Amino acid sequence: MDFDLTEDQRMIRDAARRMTEETLTPLLAREPQDQPLSKAAMQEVYGYLSDFGITAMRLPAEQGGSGMTMVDYGLIMEQLPPVIGLSLISHDGSTTRISTGATPELRAAHVPDLIAGRKIACTATSEANAGSNSNAISTRLEQDRGMLRITGRKMWITNASVADVFVVTCTSGVDERGKPRNHRVLVERNTPGVEVTEIPLTGLRQGHLSEVSLDGVEVPEGNAIGEPGDAGRFMTLVWNGNRPLLGLSALSIARRAFDMAREHCGTRQQFGRLLSQMQLIQQDLSEIETLIESGRLLCLSALHAMDRDRRANGTSAMAKKFATANANRAIDLAMQLHGALGITTELGIEQMWRDARIFQVPDGTMGILSLIHGRELTSKAAF
Ligand SMILES: Cc1cc2nc3c(=O)[nH]c(=O)nc-3n(C[C@H](O)[C@H](O)[C@H](O)COP(=O)(O)OP(=O)(O)OC[C@H]3O[C@@H](n4cnc5c(N)ncnc54)[C@H](O)[C@@H]3O)c2cc1C
Repeated sequence: MDFDLTEDQRMIRDAARRMTEETLTPLLAREPQDQPLSKAAMQEVYGYLSDFGITAMRLPAEQGGSGMTMVDYGLIMEQLPPVIGLSLISHDGSTTRISTGATPELRAAHVPDLIAGRKIACTATSEANAGSNSNAISTRLEQDRGMLRITGRKMWITNASVADVFVVTCTSGVDERGKPRNHRVLVERNTPGVEVTEIPLTGLRQGHLSEVSLDGVEVPEGNAIGEPGDAGRFMTLVWNGNRPLLGLSALSIARRAFDMAREHCGTRQQFGRLLSQMQLIQQDLSEIETLIESGRLLCLSALHAMDRDRRANGTSAMAKKFATANANRAIDLAMQLHGALGITTELGIEQMWRDARIFQVPDGTMGILSLIHGRELTSKAAF
């Protein structure tokens, strides 16, 4: 077992860090801090991500993708601003779904633009009454004279308000065994009947999370992706990859909070001594770094298992649950080490606290991740 990065991995990580420092961070700083980025700003972001070759991380190079490994993806995710990382995971996952399941014509119409960052993608599955239980979706699919008609409402959709292309999960009822026959259909943003409303969040406020209304939206039959009934299986494949990536992104916020806490404790004096000289402070600093590093190792090991084509449903669920919980605990401790300063809006740790909290919900809540892991351990589904 080798815990050292290869030369290529170091280069990828360093290049991602440079891109963040030189282009993405200044772009985010220039835009309003408490509002979703404009479409123009997001197009600029995707231009940078495309130049860097990471808009289709999970596609093989022969399909125009990055050809990088999932561990490479994780190393990049640790360097990206979390709000951009979350958007990229949605775009890349949606692009993968389209590229692997669409007809050659549909693929040709969208995938090159998605890779070039000229279009942004999202996937719309969740609904007000179908969150953790994604099989319970009620967005209806009807076939009529060569057209597909979709009617329903989707909730909590990342990227939707800036996306050009939506992968919509919808249902045509149940199959002969009584199982939901769920489909994936590509819908373009400018199709009549599509409406998007932004939902304000506590954290990652420059990001985009929306409600999407589909009111009798009609698209050609050729916009179907994959086979009827395969939606659940293909969604799960992408979710497995997303989970450790989200964990690493949350931990990257915790790492920044930790660096600030170390710096603060090395300069702040109380009782005539530096905070960093006190035993309980050292215990907290040790605890924070242990939380970050242990979460990180579990995420990287889940990604490594995927690169080896091993089943990673349990590891990936365990990694996201552990890493996002650790990130939240670590940031809370770092905040506490700053005393009153930690809870001011001026310092920025309270924003990290709000941002990191968001990661405990998408692609599996903490409870659902336990149930996925439990199912792997016992071969019994409890949900
Ligand atoms: C930032 C963000 C981005 C998102 N992006 C997307 C996206 O791009 N596309 C998309 O389709 N969706 C997206 N979602 C939606 C996300 O997938 C859902 O919010 C998530 O699956 C949980 O569903 P819910 O919010 O309806 O919670 P619920 O399912 O109502 O869960 C509420 C609580 O009940 C618990 N619970 C539920 N069932 C059980 C059970 N059987 N046993 C024990 N506890 C249970 C959960 O763990 C949770 O704590 C996003 C959400 C967020 C916050």
